[in-house]
Amino acid sequence: MPVPKRKRSRARRDSRFANKFIKVKALATCKNCNQPHMPHTVCKSCGHYKGIKVLTTKNDRTSKRLEIRQAEKSARSSSGQESAE
Ligand SMILES: [Zn+2]
Repeated sequence: MPVPKRKRSRARRDSRFANKFIKVKALATCKNCNQPHMPHTVCKSCGHYKGIKVLTTKNDRTSKRLEIRQAEKSARSSSGQESAE
């Protein structure tokens, strides 16, 4: 039968129980997008805090970039048609 070679130190033994009393904290729901987020913090999914837009999120940046690209594309296609005619 396998037997441990050395005695476990108190620190190693007690570190096993360190996570025993961790509890999941209560989550608040965003008033703007209804996503769960930490209370008293900005909603990371929409960037709102207390109903006010505070952060620009990654989604905002990507949507803005797409809009700019589409505008450029449409401008190019319209200018290309004019030159072809
Ligand atoms: Zn939100």
